[in-house]
Amino acid sequence: MARRALITGVTGQDGAYLARLLLDKGYEVYGAIRRAASQTLPRLRELGIADAIRPVTLELNEFSNLLRALEQVRPDEVYNLAAQSFVHTSFEQPIYTGDVGALGVTRVLEAIRAVNPAIRFYQASTSELFGKAQTMPQSERTPFYPRSPYAVAKLYAHWITVNYRESYDLHASAGILFNHESPLRGPEFITRKVTLALARIRHGQQDVLEVGNVEAQRDWGFAGDYVEGMWRMLQQPQAADYVLATGRAYSVGRFIELAADALGFSIGWEGTGKATRGIDRRSGRVLVTINPIHYRPAEVDLLVGDFSKAKERLGWQPTVALPDLVAMMAEADDRRVRDGRLML
Ligand code: NDP
Ligand code: GDP
Repeated sequence: MARRALITGVTGQDGAYLARLLLDKGYEVYGAIRRAASQTLPRLRELGIADAIRPVTLELNEFSNLLRALEQVRPDEVYNLAAQSFVHTSFEQPIYTGDVGALGVTRVLEAIRAVNPAIRFYQASTSELFGKAQTMPQSERTPFYPRSPYAVAKLYAHWITVNYRESYDLHASAGILFNHESPLRGPEFITRKVTLALARIRHGQQDVLEVGNVEAQRDWGFAGDYVEGMWRMLQQPQAADYVLATGRAYSVGRFIELAADALGFSIGWEGTGKATRGIDRRSGRVLVTINPIHYRPAEVDLLVGDFSKAKERLGWQPTVALPDLVAMMAEADDRRVRDGRLML
């Protein structure tokens, strides 16, 4: 019989790539979709799998709904990807962010205990847990220092996953994933914001790209690689926690330069701080300005991951280097803008 997986957050970036991976592996894939969600499922449509997913209506804040969903689906594996995942919004909506991202995880774990403790569980932990990072690079042994309501919620979620593994012997693993991107990334995140804006500028649909802190550095990988790591974690005899990362950090400014190159611009920087401007060397036109509205009350300056445990135990490693990832995203947005096909 085909194995069954339930994915919460299936309408998000990772949900779409994970659903495709599991379908390719022969799973029956049940996708948890909130009633309020737009029913057009743009990411699943873009990957051509919207009709292959079995939809389950699910709100992570509603325990009775979770219980019934698990009883109905009887999954072998649950991937909990649902969250209010945007750091900036978490400062505006800290309570909601905590309800979904922290207590929501306890609800899923309690439902698993009640329905079938043999279900294998994946929790989407994050490099944001390291926040004001105490060591470089960060591994599973690095102390956490979260810097946003999002990260604090994820810290609770991480430890409740560990706690249920240790207390009730659940096969519950947490992937501490560094930022991972793709053409399906939400347009509010910096990478996609940049590729989309520069594609629009190129096609005369936008004047300028406004960003916040261009000094921040992140370890950006390709989402398609990272969902493979999630699946491998749940195939291990023992549940555990793993960092997935590329081991290389780039600044936001450098990401903008690479995206500009991919779209036929060439950015040079002038000024400092809020007065920083990115100018196209070819046309002299201002392409990038700073708007402090995008600064965060507390910033995470530099994240770079050590994925050696995942490499050793899961045989996992990233396959897409940042310049190729940027080109992939820039080309996808260029095509979408050109064709007037902007669903995401
Ligand atoms: P997205 O923001 O693209 O997707 C989030 C998903 O969660 C959406 O499907 C959303 O549904 C769903 N969701 C939000 N609130 C609820 C709720 N109350 N009940 C049910 N579903 C809900 O995130 P990603 O795909 O990028 O990330 C997946 C997970 O991995 C998230 O938990 C994120 O925090 C975590 N993570 C992501 C990283 C990254 O770089 N992408 C890095 C590390 C961790 P809807 O479509 O209805 O809004
Ligand atoms: P995060 O690492 O989960 O917060 O992912 P984001 O893509 O939202 O942000 C990555 C980094 O880019 C953070 O340090 C942000 O402060 C920085 N950044 C700079 N300008 C912007 C912007 O305009 N939007 C976003 N989302 N991030 C920005």
